[in-house]
Amino acid sequence: MTIKELIEENIAQKEDCNLCRESSIEVGEKTEYGAVIISRIGKGLEDGWFATISPKTGSNPEKDFSIQLMSFAHLTHFAQLAKYPELAKNYGVLFSKVSMAMAQIMAEENPEFKPIVESKELGTSMATYGKCTNWGEKKEHLHIKVFPFKGNIGQPYTVDSSFGRKEAFEDPKTKEKFVKMKPVTKVVLSKERFEQLSKKLIGILSDVEQ
Ligand SMILES: [Zn+2]
Repeated sequence: MTIKELIEENIAQKEDCNLCRESSIEVGEKTEYGAVIISRIGKGLEDGWFATISPKTGSNPEKDFSIQLMSFAHLTHFAQLAKYPELAKNYGVLFSKVSMAMAQIMAEENPEFKPIVESKELGTSMATYGKCTNWGEKKEHLHIKVFPFKGNIGQPYTVDSSFGRKEAFEDPKTKEKFVKMKPVTKVVLSKERFEQLSKKLIGILSDVEQ
């Protein structure tokens, strides 16, 4: 077996995939989950991506929000992007524009914004997260999150050196080692805030070529 079969898998949309269904929704409209489409780029399966703002956040609903990028095609592995140069290119374009839009809103909402700030709390900190697998049970349509790296969703992740430096504790019963993390609960953004953010993001992202 080679990787070829995975790379060349059929990327046609699937009826039972919610993200495939969402890919045809127009900018400004809502998905079944309640997310709003804020941008679309490309025309078809081999170049198309769309972005949504989530109605929920795991951090402060008055300050934070989360955006998700998804392909029109039913791609399940990052490696598959290498086969479609326009898809890879448009991912970069949409990711950069979405990041700019999020940073612009965060900066506008922070009266003390400047390129370098003195404290973590004042920072325009952002992170991205996505994963993929060919393990059948979790072989899902690609989705990559972009979010403010703040509050409870701004904790060091396993790949960060700071995660490795965390104090390790030991469960007295099982002797299993663990590190402490703050729990994350997703909360709904207020209707007003969600509408205001959706409109603002759509406005900033209106120069993205569809
Ligand atoms: Zn899909």
